[in-house]
Amino acid sequence: MRDIIQLACGECKRRNYSTTKNKKKTTERIEMKKFCPFCRKHQPHKEQK
Ligand SMILES: [Zn+2]
Repeated sequence: MRDIIQLACGECKRRNYSTTKNKKKTTERIEMKKFCPFCRKHQPHKEQK
């Protein structure tokens, strides 16, 4: 059971990426450093509901 989650830029809050995670294994909010095309730099992207 893997659920699709969305990753939003920590600065502009735009949802740039989606990924999947196993909610039973990973209960905490995930954070990934990804390139934001709106900020035009790498930003930490956080999981959004
Ligand atoms: Zn951004």
